[in-house]
Amino acid sequence: MRTTHAKPDLAGLLPEQGRTALTKHFASRGQPAYRAEQVVSWLYDRLAFSFDEMSNLPKAERDALRECFDLTALETARLSRSSDGTSKHLWKLADGELIESVLIPTSTRLTLCISSQAGCAMACTFCATGWMGYQRQLSAGEIIAQYRGARAWAADNGLGEITNVVFMGMGEPLMNRKAVFAALHSLNHGYGLGARRITVSTVGVVPGILEMARMPEQYRLAVSLHAPNHELRQELIPIEKKYPLPELVEALRAFDAAGGKRITFEYVMIDGVTDSIALADELARLTREFHAFVNLIPFNPIPETEWRPSTPERLRAFAARLEARGISAFVRAPRGRDIAAACGQLKAEATHGRGPVQITSRAREKAAS
Ligand code: SAH
Repeated sequence: MRTTHAKPDLAGLLPEQGRTALTKHFASRGQPAYRAEQVVSWLYDRLAFSFDEMSNLPKAERDALRECFDLTALETARLSRSSDGTSKHLWKLADGELIESVLIPTSTRLTLCISSQAGCAMACTFCATGWMGYQRQLSAGEIIAQYRGARAWAADNGLGEITNVVFMGMGEPLMNRKAVFAALHSLNHGYGLGARRITVSTVGVVPGILEMARMPEQYRLAVSLHAPNHELRQELIPIEKKYPLPELVEALRAFDAAGGKRITFEYVMIDGVTDSIALADELARLTREFHAFVNLIPFNPIPETEWRPSTPERLRAFAARLEARGISAFVRAPRGRDIAAACGQLKAEATHGRGPVQITSRAREKAAS
Protein backbone atom coordinates (compact mmCIF):
# COMPACT_ATOMS: atom_id res chain seq x y z
CA MET A 1 0.00 0.00 0.00
CA ARG A 2 1.26 3.48 -0.80
CA THR A 3 1.51 5.97 2.01
CA THR A 4 1.20 9.60 1.14
CA HIS A 5 3.87 11.95 2.37
CA ALA A 6 3.80 15.71 2.27
CA LYS A 7 5.75 16.72 -0.79
CA PRO A 8 8.92 18.73 -0.18
CA ASP A 9 8.21 22.41 -0.76
CA LEU A 10 10.77 23.95 -3.09
CA ALA A 11 9.84 27.40 -1.78
CA GLY A 12 10.84 26.35 1.72
CA LEU A 13 13.83 24.06 1.27
CA LEU A 14 17.23 25.56 1.89
CA PRO A 15 18.89 26.23 -1.46
CA GLU A 16 21.38 23.39 -1.03
CA GLN A 17 18.62 21.00 0.07
CA GLY A 18 16.60 21.93 -2.99
CA ARG A 19 19.57 21.38 -5.24
CA THR A 20 20.26 17.96 -3.70
CA ALA A 21 16.63 16.89 -3.88
CA LEU A 22 16.35 18.01 -7.50
CA THR A 23 19.60 16.33 -8.51
CA LYS A 24 18.36 13.05 -7.03
CA HIS A 25 14.98 13.48 -8.64
CA PHE A 26 16.37 13.99 -12.13
CA ALA A 27 18.98 11.24 -11.74
CA SER A 28 16.25 8.77 -10.85
CA ARG A 29 14.45 9.76 -14.04
CA GLY A 30 17.54 9.36 -16.18
CA GLN A 31 17.64 13.06 -16.91
CA PRO A 32 20.85 15.04 -17.37
CA ALA A 33 22.33 16.66 -14.28
CA TYR A 34 21.89 20.20 -15.62
CA ARG A 35 18.13 19.90 -15.20
CA ALA A 36 18.50 20.56 -11.46
CA GLU A 37 20.36 23.80 -12.16
CA GLN A 38 17.68 24.82 -14.63
CA VAL A 39 15.03 24.49 -11.93
CA VAL A 40 17.19 26.27 -9.35
CA SER A 41 17.59 29.14 -11.76
CA TRP A 42 13.84 29.28 -12.35
CA LEU A 43 13.28 29.40 -8.60
CA TYR A 44 15.84 31.95 -7.49
CA ASP A 45 16.72 34.04 -10.52
CA ARG A 46 13.53 34.08 -12.53
CA LEU A 47 11.14 33.75 -9.61
CA ALA A 48 8.89 31.14 -11.22
CA PHE A 49 5.62 30.60 -9.39
CA SER A 50 4.69 27.32 -11.03
CA PHE A 51 6.38 24.40 -12.71
CA ASP A 52 4.52 25.21 -15.93
CA GLU A 53 6.55 28.39 -16.32
CA MET A 54 9.78 26.39 -16.53
CA SER A 55 9.66 26.40 -20.30
CA ASN A 56 13.10 24.96 -20.99
CA LEU A 57 12.05 21.70 -19.35
CA PRO A 58 10.16 19.06 -21.33
CA LYS A 59 6.48 18.85 -20.44
CA ALA A 60 6.92 15.36 -18.96
CA GLU A 61 9.55 16.74 -16.59
CA ARG A 62 7.37 19.63 -15.51
CA ASP A 63 4.57 17.16 -14.78
CA ALA A 64 6.94 14.93 -12.82
CA LEU A 65 8.13 17.90 -10.76
CA ARG A 66 4.53 18.78 -9.91
CA GLU A 67 3.96 15.17 -8.82
CA CYS A 68 6.96 15.13 -6.53
CA PHE A 69 7.32 18.68 -5.19
CA ASP A 70 5.26 21.58 -3.93
CA LEU A 71 6.05 25.19 -4.73
CA THR A 72 4.08 27.24 -2.23
CA ALA A 73 2.59 30.43 -3.63
CA LEU A 74 0.11 32.55 -1.69
CA GLU A 75 -3.20 33.86 -2.86
CA THR A 76 -3.69 37.61 -2.51
CA ALA A 77 -6.90 38.06 -0.54
CA ARG A 78 -6.62 41.83 -0.61
CA LEU A 79 -4.19 44.55 -1.54
CA SER A 80 -4.33 47.93 0.21
CA ARG A 81 -2.37 50.99 -0.86
CA SER A 82 -1.62 53.87 1.47
CA SER A 83 -1.49 57.51 0.42
CA ASP A 84 2.18 57.45 1.55
CA GLY A 85 3.16 54.73 -0.95
CA THR A 86 3.09 51.84 1.52
CA SER A 87 1.19 48.78 0.35
CA LYS A 88 -0.11 45.84 2.30
CA HIS A 89 -0.83 42.34 1.05
CA LEU A 90 -3.36 40.23 2.87
CA TRP A 91 -2.35 36.70 1.96
CA LYS A 92 -4.56 33.65 2.20
CA LEU A 93 -2.77 30.44 3.16
CA ALA A 94 -3.80 27.01 1.87
CA ASP A 95 -5.82 26.29 5.03
CA GLY A 96 -7.58 29.67 4.91
CA GLU A 97 -5.50 31.44 7.56
CA LEU A 98 -4.72 35.05 6.74
CA ILE A 99 -1.41 36.84 7.17
CA GLU A 100 -0.07 40.20 6.06
CA SER A 101 3.10 41.66 4.64
CA VAL A 102 3.90 45.31 3.98
CA LEU A 103 6.04 46.96 1.30
CA ILE A 104 7.55 50.26 2.41
CA PRO A 105 9.31 52.39 -0.21
CA THR A 106 11.69 55.20 0.72
CA SER A 107 13.87 57.24 -1.61
CA THR A 108 16.71 54.71 -1.38
CA ARG A 109 15.13 51.47 -0.26
CA LEU A 110 12.24 49.14 -0.71
CA THR A 111 11.67 47.32 2.56
CA LEU A 112 9.45 44.28 2.89
CA CYS A 113 8.01 43.60 6.32
CA ILE A 114 7.00 39.95 6.58
CA SER A 115 5.08 37.74 8.99
CA SER A 116 6.52 34.71 10.77
CA GLN A 117 3.34 33.35 12.38
CA ALA A 118 -0.40 33.54 11.79
CA GLY A 119 -1.33 35.69 14.76
CA CYS A 120 0.98 35.91 17.77
CA ALA A 121 1.10 34.35 21.21
CA MET A 122 3.10 37.13 22.89
CA ALA A 123 0.02 39.21 23.79
CA CYS A 124 1.83 42.54 24.04
CA THR A 125 -0.81 44.93 25.29
CA PHE A 126 -0.19 47.67 22.71
CA CYS A 127 -0.18 45.43 19.63
CA ALA A 128 -3.20 44.50 17.49
CA THR A 129 -1.61 41.22 16.42
CA GLY A 130 -1.19 40.37 20.10
CA TRP A 131 -4.91 40.92 20.60
CA MET A 132 -5.93 38.59 17.79
CA GLY A 133 -4.25 35.62 19.46
CA TYR A 134 -2.14 32.87 17.99
CA GLN A 135 -3.24 30.68 15.10
CA ARG A 136 -0.22 28.72 13.95
CA GLN A 137 3.39 28.70 12.83
CA LEU A 138 4.22 29.57 9.24
CA SER A 139 6.36 27.15 7.28
CA ALA A 140 9.60 28.35 5.71
CA GLY A 141 7.82 28.07 2.35
CA GLU A 142 5.02 30.37 3.53
CA ILE A 143 7.53 32.92 4.80
CA ILE A 144 9.50 32.84 1.56
CA ALA A 145 6.29 32.90 -0.49
CA GLN A 146 5.51 36.34 0.99
CA TYR A 147 8.87 37.56 -0.28
CA ARG A 148 8.40 35.96 -3.70
CA GLY A 149 4.85 37.29 -4.07
CA ALA A 150 5.69 40.80 -2.87
CA ARG A 151 8.80 40.92 -5.03
CA ALA A 152 6.88 40.04 -8.17
CA TRP A 153 4.15 42.54 -7.30
CA ALA A 154 6.69 45.30 -6.64
CA ALA A 155 8.36 44.66 -10.00
CA ASP A 156 5.01 44.72 -11.82
CA ASN A 157 4.02 47.97 -10.11
CA GLY A 158 7.17 49.93 -10.79
CA LEU A 159 8.54 49.80 -7.25
CA GLY A 160 11.77 48.08 -8.26
CA GLU A 161 13.72 45.52 -6.27
CA ILE A 162 13.20 44.70 -2.62
CA THR A 163 16.39 45.89 -0.89
CA ASN A 164 15.61 44.99 2.74
CA VAL A 165 13.53 42.43 4.57
CA VAL A 166 12.41 42.89 8.16
CA PHE A 167 10.65 40.28 10.28
CA MET A 168 8.36 42.87 11.81
CA GLY A 169 5.02 41.65 10.53
CA MET A 170 2.70 39.36 12.42
CA GLY A 171 4.19 36.94 14.91
CA GLU A 172 7.30 36.50 17.00
CA PRO A 173 10.03 35.21 14.68
CA LEU A 174 12.14 33.71 17.47
CA MET A 175 9.19 31.56 18.56
CA ASN A 176 9.28 29.94 15.09
CA ARG A 177 13.01 29.48 14.80
CA LYS A 178 13.24 26.46 12.52
CA ALA A 179 11.20 28.04 9.74
CA VAL A 180 12.49 31.57 10.27
CA PHE A 181 16.14 30.52 10.29
CA ALA A 182 15.60 28.46 7.13
CA ALA A 183 13.95 31.50 5.53
CA LEU A 184 16.88 33.73 6.56
CA HIS A 185 19.27 31.29 4.96
CA SER A 186 17.20 31.09 1.82
CA LEU A 187 16.87 34.87 1.46
CA ASN A 188 20.59 35.29 1.95
CA HIS A 189 22.07 32.28 0.15
CA GLY A 190 19.31 31.60 -2.35
CA TYR A 191 17.92 35.03 -3.26
CA GLY A 192 21.20 36.86 -2.66
CA LEU A 193 19.93 39.43 -0.19
CA GLY A 194 22.79 40.65 2.02
CA ALA A 195 22.57 39.45 5.63
CA ARG A 196 22.91 43.01 6.88
CA ARG A 197 19.80 43.88 4.91
CA ILE A 198 17.74 41.33 6.80
CA THR A 199 16.48 42.21 10.27
CA VAL A 200 14.87 39.93 12.79
CA SER A 201 12.78 41.83 15.30
CA THR A 202 12.14 40.09 18.60
CA VAL A 203 10.29 40.81 21.77
CA GLY A 204 13.30 39.29 23.56
CA VAL A 205 13.26 35.51 23.20
CA VAL A 206 16.61 34.77 24.83
CA PRO A 207 17.40 31.30 23.37
CA GLY A 208 16.72 32.61 19.87
CA ILE A 209 19.01 35.59 20.36
CA LEU A 210 21.76 33.26 21.55
CA GLU A 211 21.30 31.08 18.46
CA MET A 212 21.51 34.13 16.21
CA ALA A 213 24.70 35.20 17.99
CA ARG A 214 26.29 31.94 16.85
CA MET A 215 25.37 32.34 13.19
CA PRO A 216 28.21 33.22 10.86
CA GLU A 217 25.99 35.57 8.84
CA GLN A 218 25.53 39.08 10.14
CA TYR A 219 21.77 39.23 10.22
CA ARG A 220 20.61 42.24 12.10
CA LEU A 221 18.70 42.13 15.33
CA ALA A 222 16.04 44.55 16.51
CA VAL A 223 14.83 44.24 20.07
CA SER A 224 11.40 45.46 21.06
CA LEU A 225 12.40 46.89 24.39
CA HIS A 226 9.60 49.42 24.95
CA ALA A 227 10.40 49.85 28.65
CA PRO A 228 13.73 50.18 30.44
CA ASN A 229 12.75 48.44 33.69
CA HIS A 230 11.17 45.15 34.71
CA GLU A 231 8.07 46.63 36.36
CA LEU A 232 6.86 48.64 33.40
CA ARG A 233 8.03 46.12 30.82
CA GLN A 234 6.06 43.25 32.34
CA GLU A 235 2.92 45.37 32.14
CA LEU A 236 3.42 45.85 28.40
CA ILE A 237 5.13 42.62 27.39
CA PRO A 238 4.10 39.45 29.21
CA ILE A 239 7.20 37.48 28.16
CA GLU A 240 9.27 39.85 30.31
CA LYS A 241 8.26 37.50 33.15
CA LYS A 242 9.90 34.54 31.43
CA TYR A 243 12.98 36.36 30.12
CA PRO A 244 13.45 39.33 32.46
CA LEU A 245 15.62 42.27 31.42
CA PRO A 246 18.86 41.15 33.10
CA GLU A 247 18.72 37.86 31.19
CA LEU A 248 17.86 39.65 27.96
CA VAL A 249 20.78 42.03 28.44
CA GLU A 250 23.12 39.05 28.97
CA ALA A 251 21.94 37.52 25.68
CA LEU A 252 22.43 40.81 23.88
CA ARG A 253 25.97 40.99 25.24
CA ALA A 254 26.63 37.60 23.67
CA PHE A 255 25.17 38.84 20.39
CA ASP A 256 27.30 41.96 20.57
CA ALA A 257 30.42 40.01 21.46
CA ALA A 258 29.96 37.91 18.31
CA GLY A 259 30.95 41.09 16.50
CA GLY A 260 29.82 43.22 13.63
CA LYS A 261 26.13 42.93 14.27
CA ARG A 262 24.68 46.19 15.42
CA ILE A 263 21.58 45.98 17.58
CA THR A 264 18.59 48.27 17.17
CA PHE A 265 16.29 48.89 20.10
CA GLU A 266 12.67 49.67 19.43
CA TYR A 267 10.80 51.77 21.92
CA VAL A 268 7.12 52.56 21.58
CA MET A 269 6.16 56.08 22.62
CA ILE A 270 2.82 55.97 24.43
CA ASP A 271 1.60 59.22 25.88
CA GLY A 272 2.00 59.26 29.65
CA VAL A 273 3.02 55.57 29.78
CA THR A 274 6.50 55.15 28.29
CA ASP A 275 7.59 58.70 27.51
CA SER A 276 8.75 60.40 30.72
CA ILE A 277 12.19 61.96 31.00
CA ALA A 278 13.01 59.65 33.93
CA LEU A 279 12.38 56.67 31.61
CA ALA A 280 14.63 58.24 28.96
CA ASP A 281 17.41 58.34 31.54
CA GLU A 282 16.86 54.70 32.46
CA LEU A 283 16.75 53.74 28.79
CA ALA A 284 20.03 55.53 28.18
CA ARG A 285 21.68 53.68 31.06
CA LEU A 286 20.42 50.34 29.78
CA THR A 287 21.39 50.74 26.12
CA ARG A 288 24.65 52.70 26.39
CA GLU A 289 26.95 49.68 26.43
CA PHE A 290 25.56 48.44 23.11
CA HIS A 291 26.32 51.56 21.05
CA ALA A 292 22.98 50.75 19.55
CA PHE A 293 20.38 52.73 17.69
CA VAL A 294 17.20 53.47 19.55
CA ASN A 295 14.18 53.70 17.27
CA LEU A 296 11.37 55.64 18.87
CA ILE A 297 8.07 54.45 17.41
CA PRO A 298 5.11 56.73 18.03
CA PHE A 299 2.33 54.45 19.27
CA ASN A 300 0.04 53.50 16.40
CA PRO A 301 -3.50 53.55 17.71
CA ILE A 302 -5.32 50.22 17.81
CA PRO A 303 -8.98 49.70 18.60
CA GLU A 304 -8.41 47.80 21.84
CA THR A 305 -6.89 50.60 23.89
CA GLU A 306 -7.45 54.21 24.87
CA TRP A 307 -3.73 54.95 24.65
CA ARG A 308 -2.53 57.79 22.45
CA PRO A 309 0.81 58.38 20.78
CA SER A 310 3.16 60.74 22.58
CA THR A 311 2.77 64.35 21.54
CA PRO A 312 5.46 65.73 19.23
CA GLU A 313 6.79 67.83 22.12
CA ARG A 314 7.18 64.83 24.43
CA LEU A 315 8.73 62.82 21.61
CA ARG A 316 11.25 65.55 20.90
CA ALA A 317 12.09 65.98 24.57
CA PHE A 318 12.57 62.23 25.04
CA ALA A 319 14.78 61.94 21.94
CA ALA A 320 16.81 64.99 22.97
CA ARG A 321 17.38 63.53 26.43
CA LEU A 322 18.68 60.27 24.91
CA GLU A 323 20.97 62.20 22.57
CA ALA A 324 22.23 64.26 25.50
CA ARG A 325 23.12 60.99 27.21
CA GLY A 326 25.06 59.85 24.13
CA ILE A 327 22.46 57.52 22.62
CA SER A 328 21.64 57.65 18.87
CA ALA A 329 17.89 58.02 18.77
CA PHE A 330 15.66 58.16 15.72
CA VAL A 331 11.99 58.89 15.56
CA ARG A 332 10.41 56.45 13.15
CA ALA A 333 7.78 58.08 10.98
CA PRO A 334 4.66 55.91 10.98
CA ARG A 335 3.99 54.47 7.54
CA GLY A 336 0.72 53.13 6.18
CA ARG A 337 -1.42 54.09 9.17
CA ASP A 338 -4.40 54.79 6.89
CA ILE A 339 -4.46 51.16 5.75
CA ALA A 340 -3.65 49.71 9.20
CA ALA A 341 -0.22 48.68 7.94
CA ALA A 342 1.87 50.45 10.56
CA CYS A 343 3.80 48.69 13.35
CA GLY A 344 1.47 46.74 15.57
CA GLN A 345 -1.63 47.30 13.47
CA LEU A 346 -1.53 44.03 11.53
CA LYS A 347 -4.36 41.76 12.48
CA ALA A 348 -5.46 40.37 9.16
CA GLU A 349 -9.06 41.47 9.78
CA ALA A 350 -9.10 38.79 12.43
CA THR A 351 -12.26 36.92 13.02
CA HIS A 352 -10.69 35.23 16.01
CA GLY A 353 -10.23 38.27 18.28
CA ARG A 354 -10.96 38.42 21.99
CA GLY A 355 -13.15 41.10 23.42
CA PRO A 356 -11.66 44.10 25.19
CA VAL A 357 -10.14 43.27 28.56
CA GLN A 358 -8.57 45.54 31.13
CA ILE A 359 -5.13 46.04 29.69
CA THR A 360 -2.79 45.58 32.58
CA SER A 361 -4.65 42.75 34.28
CA ARG A 362 -4.65 40.86 31.00
CA ALA A 363 -0.91 41.25 30.73
CA ARG A 364 -0.51 39.92 34.25
CA GLU A 365 -2.72 36.91 33.61
CA LYS A 366 -0.95 35.95 30.41
CA ALA A 367 2.51 36.54 31.69
CA ALA A 368 3.28 33.51 33.79
CA SER A 369 2.45 31.00 31.06
N1 SAH B 1 7.26 40.10 17.45
C1 SAH B 1 8.29 40.93 16.94
C2 SAH B 1 7.97 41.60 15.62
C3 SAH B 1 6.61 42.21 15.43
S1 SAH B 1 6.15 43.87 15.59
C4 SAH B 1 8.67 41.98 17.96
O1 SAH B 1 8.01 42.07 18.98
O2 SAH B 1 9.66 42.65 17.77
C5 SAH B 1 7.22 45.05 15.04
C6 SAH B 1 7.33 46.20 16.03
O3 SAH B 1 6.12 46.96 16.19
C7 SAH B 1 7.70 45.73 17.44
O4 SAH B 1 8.70 46.55 17.94
C8 SAH B 1 6.41 45.96 18.17
O5 SAH B 1 6.59 46.03 19.55
C9 SAH B 1 5.93 47.25 17.56
N2 SAH B 1 4.54 47.56 17.84
C10 SAH B 1 3.54 46.71 18.16
N3 SAH B 1 2.38 47.37 18.34
C11 SAH B 1 2.64 48.67 18.11
C12 SAH B 1 1.83 49.86 18.10
N4 SAH B 1 0.53 49.80 18.35
N5 SAH B 1 2.43 51.03 17.83
C13 SAH B 1 3.75 51.08 17.55
N6 SAH B 1 4.55 50.01 17.51
C14 SAH B 1 4.01 48.81 17.80
